[in-house]
Amino acid sequence: MGELRVAIVGFGKIARDQHVPAIAATPGITLAAVASRNASLPGLPHFATIEQLLQDAPEIDAVALCTPPQVRRQQAIAALKAGKHVMLEKPPGAAVTELDPLIALAAEQRRTLFATWHSRYAPAVEPARAWLAERRITNVQINWKEDVRVWHPGQSWIWEPGGLGVFDPGINALSILTRILPAHVFVTAAELSFPSNRAAPIAADLTLTDTSGLPIAAAFDFRQTGPQSWDIIVDTDGEQLVLSRGGARLAAGGKTLVEAPDEEYPGLYRRFVELVATGASDVDLLPLRLVADAFLLGNRRIVEPFED
Ligand code: NAP
Repeated sequence: MGELRVAIVGFGKIARDQHVPAIAATPGITLAAVASRNASLPGLPHFATIEQLLQDAPEIDAVALCTPPQVRRQQAIAALKAGKHVMLEKPPGAAVTELDPLIALAAEQRRTLFATWHSRYAPAVEPARAWLAERRITNVQINWKEDVRVWHPGQSWIWEPGGLGVFDPGINALSILTRILPAHVFVTAAELSFPSNRAAPIAADLTLTDTSGLPIAAAFDFRQTGPQSWDIIVDTDGEQLVLSRGGARLAAGGKTLVEAPDEEYPGLYRRFVELVATGASDVDLLPLRLVADAFLLGNRRIVEPFED
């Protein structure tokens, strides 16, 4: 197979910060166009919409959908129907049930559908999984607290239905959790704090467990100023494991086992190239199902209004 020609759709923060450099660093894939209503990249063909891209750029093999989750389903359908491979930013959709028809369409069209979970590609995640596989886990605490004004400035979609609010980062923690724990995880209770002027939660406290009854707690908060925390602390029958900096650092028994620079998006693109080459898809809906269950089971608390 030749070089995969990919177009980025939705040229916002993540497209600029991560997708462009990651594509440039990945053998076998080239950025060939941008489709975005208001943004373009000098030197590359630009289209205002995905429909125009699909109509006027037949040489494109694949699209990376970097738009907000609420609009991705229609874009993915259009791309798959036009015979393109599709990479979905996380979360894979605005709803769980919208994904089954997409998975079926990708299979029918014999095209790759890749629902990405970038945090799973953080350098300490696989070592954490291997470390935990050899121990008995007794407790898990997730602290995922960041300042929404710093990380999501002016992103109004995040506060709309389907935008997930604090679960937009929180789902990254759940994607790591479901990768590193050996047993199936599920939600048993949730406390959701909604600003009185917003349709999505600004904070969430989740109680989860697994089939062995393991206690798991997750605290997500968008109101964190000062030091930010993206930590998962796992107690075992021996030493304690601390996965911090969003999965970039792993310590156990007080010793640092892994500390490495961010390589998440190059890892995603290597996986995408491999999936296309082997004619496979990769869609794991478990993190999104956990979020959906948190909404189903969640007690709703109304808190002070949020302004950007
Ligand atoms: P963003 O900065 O708002 O960028 C999204 C872009 O999509 C916008 O710039 C906009 O470009 C386009 N867009 C917005 N609304 C649209 C609509 N209704 N129809 C068509 N296009 C629309 O958001 P982002 O932070 O890049 O996040 C995008 C996705 O990546 C989210 O699912 C997020 O969870 C995920 N992600 C973000 C980060 C992060 O750190 N920001 C990290 C990992 C993953 P135009 O106005 O030019 O069309």
